[in-house]
Amino acid sequence: RNAGRLAIGTLAALASETVAAFSRNLHVVLADGISSVADAVQLAERIKTAIGAPLALNGRSFTTGVSIGIARFPEDGRDTSTLLKNADMAMYAAKAGGRNIMRLFTSDMAHAVERRLDMELALRHALERNEFTLVYQPKLALATGRMCGVEALVRWNHPEQGVIPPGDFIPLAEETGFIEPLGKWVLEEACRALASWDADSLGPLTIAVNVAAAQVNRGDLAAVVDRLVRQYHVDPGCLEIEVTETAVIADHARAQATLNRLRSLGIAVALDDFGTGYSSLIYLRRLDIDTVKIDRSFVQQACEGSRDGEIVQMIVQAARTLKLMVVAEGVETAEQATFLRKLGCDMIQGYLVARPMPLEQLKVWLLDRQRSERRHSPRLTLVPVDR
Ligand code: C2E
Ligand code: CA
Ligand code: CA
Repeated sequence: RNAGRLAIGTLAALASETVAAFSRNLHVVLADGISSVADAVQLAERIKTAIGAPLALNGRSFTTGVSIGIARFPEDGRDTSTLLKNADMAMYAAKAGGRNIMRLFTSDMAHAVERRLDMELALRHALERNEFTLVYQPKLALATGRMCGVEALVRWNHPEQGVIPPGDFIPLAEETGFIEPLGKWVLEEACRALASWDADSLGPLTIAVNVAAAQVNRGDLAAVVDRLVRQYHVDPGCLEIEVTETAVIADHARAQATLNRLRSLGIAVALDDFGTGYSSLIYLRRLDIDTVKIDRSFVQQACEGSRDGEIVQMIVQAARTLKLMVVAEGVETAEQATFLRKLGCDMIQGYLVARPMPLEQLKVWLLDRQRSERRHSPRLTLVPVDR
């Protein structure tokens, strides 16, 4: 119906142009005799208006929108396939811009697509070339002042571009399906770190690993983790999985089944970035999880009496009522830490405690801390000095 509607709408707006239906919802208009960009834009406007007119169906009124991409001959392509490809690119840019938008093709679009293809290709080789590493950011228990675990964060050491943060490649990895092998590698690397950890001299270590929506919803996450935990002889209690709400919302029942399987293995589950997205306290109640991580966008503005401070307070209280642990992310100042301690927040994570660092550096950092704790802790003055 939609396709027919588009075709009729398009025809109504056009007099001498050729219209071709390429697929159910993709139409190509070949406009001859257009001499300027202004003419092309005007034609696109006419199409938009015609298609956008309300349509009465079964006594109800419906409206449709259209995304239009424009490519010009000969500037944007001298042959049919180049023109079509570039019009398509402009159409996708229009779609990304929202509803009822038109875009003229620009060479920037082609460069963006090229960059994306390059990155996609480079990503695929990055695993076999060992270009990924994990860095670890400590979490601090506010009650004891001790480190109570770390979060593993992935980095891509690109041979030409240097270190690329996850925000720049995880979304692409998710779109292309590469997140599956990458996510598996991250889990395995975290298990390797746990297996190599000398708990006797360094104290126990818990590693929290971020997993993407695709990993939660494909269903074999628990099996993968189970296999790795056995292979590396890792105590499942030393592993935690961080999921975001978006991962859980898409298919709630399925996601919860995966989380339940993880929890029955003894692996804790944390809900990441709480306060962004769909966050609602109802969700917190419905989900079987262990920990809530309050997003740093709230934490950074949180202080006595501020609006964000009140939101943080509310999340901490709700979590306590539901017997969940609470971690505040992105804590950068001592004032934020003091405020959070007063609210009863369990753990903090952020630059105030430490930046994410490689495993070897984490060991040094921990030993340094333990040494200075021994020097400063009043409890340790009770240890006989003549030993
Ligand atoms: P996230 O899980 O919320 O991770 C916390 C991010 O905040 C990290 O950025 C960390 O470096 C940064 N951060 C920590 N403390 C502070 C602070 O005090 N101030 C500020 N401004 N930032 C702080 P990073 O490492 O760039 O990671 C970004 C996001 O990428 C992560 O957000 C997570 O969603 C995703 N990510 C990272 N590693 C993985 C992974 O192995 N798998 C998946 N699926 N996603 C990952
Ligand atoms: Ca996280
Ligand atoms: Ca987070």
